[in-house]
Amino acid sequence: MSLNNKVILITGASSGIGEATAIKLATDGAKVVLMARSKDKLEQLKTTITEKGGNALVVPGDVTKAGDFEQAVKHTVEHFGKVNGLINNAGLMPLSYIKKLKTDEWNTMVDVNIKGVLNGVAAILPELIAQKGGDIINVSSMAAHRYFPGGAVYCATKSAVKMFSEGLRQELSPKYGINVTSIEPGAVDTNLTNTITDEDIKDDLKGMLDMTSLNAEDIANAIHYVLSQPERVNINNIYIVPSEQQ
Ligand code: NDP
Repeated sequence: MSLNNKVILITGASSGIGEATAIKLATDGAKVVLMARSKDKLEQLKTTITEKGGNALVVPGDVTKAGDFEQAVKHTVEHFGKVNGLINNAGLMPLSYIKKLKTDEWNTMVDVNIKGVLNGVAAILPELIAQKGGDIINVSSMAAHRYFPGGAVYCATKSAVKMFSEGLRQELSPKYGINVTSIEPGAVDTNLTNTITDEDIKDDLKGMLDMTSLNAEDIANAIHYVLSQPERVNINNIYIVPSEQQ
């Protein structure tokens, strides 16, 4: 078991990449802490992990609320005695063309995709600095590298996550031994497109939705690779896309 009892807090664990990552890490010896708003789905996932011989803790919470994150970290340390890492994975992608002025959706993306990541780092950092080590993995996107239809705001949020990760790494890794990674996937087959309300986008994205995407497990494997490195190794970023995606 290469993850050797590492305690890892995973946001967005109720679905898609977060769920697959929780299963992957837990079946290789990590103790996983499951955070998202859907408590029932997290409890179901905990049952699945337990049946596979893993160890999981459910901490329902909203990443846009700093207090929820603080409670999640506190609860984790009370339950497992420590916390070794955070995977900032929660995110949403209500794509729309700017001229539609769906400002509520813009704000939600900024709140979840950017501020949610900042809240997570603020909550866990005192623990990681005190123990002089740990891992922070932020799920950015191919969208940090290029624009796609209706993605002006979404791409901006994922660019922010990628650049924030680089700043974190430079400030934290050499001085405190905290390794930081930005994961940048192309299209992955999950529920992510369910929040799109702009009907024009659905037509324009058809090509992307029709190709063979990555599975959530492919990203879970990439995250597992990051966490199973020796402490001296910092994987700065992983840009991982479907073979069919241009
Ligand atoms: P899903 O829609 O399957 O999962 C999104 C997760 O985020 C859910 O568990 C949801 O849980 C959680 N979430 C959303 N809002 C909040 C919130 N306010 N507080 C806590 N949790 C929240 O999508 P994916 O698995 O695809 O997405 C995971 C990450 O991967 C996202 O950051 C996404 O941007 C990124 N990504 C995805 C790609 C793809 O093609 N699928 C490509 C590149 C990056 P709940 O609703 O229960 O709170």
